[in-house]
Amino acid sequence: MTLSSSVGADQEVASRPALTMADFHKMDVEVLGGVGTAKAKALASVDVESVLDLLTYYPRRYIDRTNRAAISDLEDGVEAMVMAQVDSVFSKKLRGSRTMVRVTVSDDTGRLGLIFFNQPWRDRQLSQGQEVVVFGKLDRYRGQYQMTNPIVDLVGDETGRIVPVYPQSGKAGLQTREIRRWVDEALRRSESRGISDPVPESLRQYHNLIGRHEAIDGIHRPESMDAQYTARNRLVFDELLRLQLKLIMRKRAVERAAVGISHDTSGELVERFTSSLGFPLTGAQRRVIGEVTADMARPVPMHRLLQGDVGAGKTVVAVAAMLTAVQGGHQGALMAPTEVLATQHYLGVSSLLDDLAVPASDSLLAERPLRVALLTNQTPGAERTRLHGSLASGETDIVIGTHALIQEGVDFASLGMVVVDEQHRFGVEQRAALRAKGSQAASPDVLVMTATPIPRTAAMTVYGDLDVSTLDEMPPGRTPIATRWPRTAAEEAEVWEQVRAEVGRGRQAYVVCPLIEESDTIEARSVTETYERLQAEELAGLRIGLLHGQLTPAEKESVMALFRGGAIDVLVATTVIEVGVDVPNATVMVIVDADRFGIAQLHQLRGRVGRGDQESTCCLLAADAVGIAAERLRALVETTDGFELAEADLELRGEGTILGERQKGRNDLQLASLRQDKEWVVGARQAAGEMLDEDPDLQRHSELRAEVELLLGDDDADYLMKS
Ligand code: ADP
Ligand code: MG
Repeated sequence: MTLSSSVGADQEVASRPALTMADFHKMDVEVLGGVGTAKAKALASVDVESVLDLLTYYPRRYIDRTNRAAISDLEDGVEAMVMAQVDSVFSKKLRGSRTMVRVTVSDDTGRLGLIFFNQPWRDRQLSQGQEVVVFGKLDRYRGQYQMTNPIVDLVGDETGRIVPVYPQSGKAGLQTREIRRWVDEALRRSESRGISDPVPESLRQYHNLIGRHEAIDGIHRPESMDAQYTARNRLVFDELLRLQLKLIMRKRAVERAAVGISHDTSGELVERFTSSLGFPLTGAQRRVIGEVTADMARPVPMHRLLQGDVGAGKTVVAVAAMLTAVQGGHQGALMAPTEVLATQHYLGVSSLLDDLAVPASDSLLAERPLRVALLTNQTPGAERTRLHGSLASGETDIVIGTHALIQEGVDFASLGMVVVDEQHRFGVEQRAALRAKGSQAASPDVLVMTATPIPRTAAMTVYGDLDVSTLDEMPPGRTPIATRWPRTAAEEAEVWEQVRAEVGRGRQAYVVCPLIEESDTIEARSVTETYERLQAEELAGLRIGLLHGQLTPAEKESVMALFRGGAIDVLVATTVIEVGVDVPNATVMVIVDADRFGIAQLHQLRGRVGRGDQESTCCLLAADAVGIAAERLRALVETTDGFELAEADLELRGEGTILGERQKGRNDLQLASLRQDKEWVVGARQAAGEMLDEDPDLQRHSELRAEVELLLGDDDADYLMKS
């Protein structure tokens, strides 16, 4: 990037094309004045190596000089930001190898102490006379106001009204005002050529977006907070558009490469099935079955996520999909994450399919019975061998099982439909392994079911490779579950009274014990202790069963069978009962140490009751829960809507856990937030789809394509899809 000062070169400068992201990427930060080897190294430590990295190193905050807090206005216990001058810096060694740096700052209105523990470098970072911005919570220590370990940014002499504050590293020796100076220089030197804008004008107008040059300038040097906001919108859109272009291009490339099965969806088997059910389908079930069937008829393999709250009736949809395959002469497989769940599914699906006959169009017999089998690691050797044979010959139509389905030796005559239940338990690899059980010539269709709904925008980003169908309507006649969170010992005692009362009425109850992540053995011991205590005390005299992960599958199944059959009143269990267990007579769910569970898991557990026509209750035992754990429990008490809870969960956890924290390096999502920018996610997804419909390889948008390749490596996309 050279700027000629000669008059004659003006022409040349004017005719040179505007600068692209790729141009900025090629410029090393060292081209900027004041960036020498040492500063370049410091910048590299925050992953800023090129001018592009610098321009996309956005301020983390802005100070509006006209309404910042004064020291005298600070309130005890409240977080605030003040701009002040450093008066003194004093460093001290504490016991052990601990250090403390004490800094005094002041403004026109007062004085404030800053205490830093174990940040000895603050001594070097801060010195008398510096202008700093301090962000932290005020507390009082021995009558003096102070902040402990606040965030401190060096601002230097500032003149503008809005002061951007950069994420910086005091340790790396970077100061916000230096970063600002370099950004200033980069922007000044880009002035004559301008910054190119690859996003089509029509799209910009539609979304009311400012140009890219103006946006990059505005995010770094806003004249007002409004200007900062419009700049941010534009850049957020760019980030999300690139991401969606990447995800959709990839998905379409996979679809083009893979040959799927074009299922014959004209048969009457599904119709027979749905009319044999004792209930009409919900509107949502009909719609989703339609979506799945339409996908199955297409020659490209389906990759669809079926999300629906606990009890929304996903199984019916899964069975309809497998029957569509069977009708056309293929097979269906349903894979569940646990032994208990696979067995449960097998029993449930078999009873739904009772007496269903397959119209056998290609044989002399008009009809034949449908054949459904169960395959798990517990399937005895001889039976397993026989089953392997019948899967390979096509004699078995539908197989339900665990991981055993994806093992060596399991071959299908023609696997046409794969349903994977509870996706959060399986990795992408296992989905792929089951898909690979299809014939060499064509990949089976895949339907992934999850009862842990994720907000739509997160789904668009995280499951970019899957289409999403949502069962957003509950079957009628569900009795709502009342959720209680007792806060006192007396209220907790009432919970056990209620369990006794329900059992007295012939109902059953679950008691779920806390999750102990460190070890299954400890978890088993803890649940056993609770079981023994309840048996001796609170629930003495009731028939209590115990279920945990250390039992053999046969033992587990026998306990479950006793509970299902009503021979056990109360089932004390670990989270092995989390998914799929379906006992309509159970009306109470007690969750011990509920603060140890996440929202999704509590919601799953709660969904084990309220399955019959009796009113049900869920009791969350965690009297002392505070903070975020308390917020989670409050959310559960307030709503039983899984989608609302998913939103609440995202709010409480922060999106880091959904997008995953990058281990190192920076990704392209610098500004965009799945929580704040939902509308932009949707808008960008739609824009990307339309753009690719008309220009599948972005040949007519080559600069945008280059940008996507530059900023979003394959590993970024892989990463998102694996989380
Ligand atoms: P999910 O897997 O979504 O949690 P299930 O498929 O296990 O839900 O269905 C829960 C219960 O609701 C089952 O007993 C099922 O037979 C019943 N069910 C499913 N669809 C309907 C419907 N349309 N009307 C009434 N009951 C239904
Ligand atoms: Mg289910």
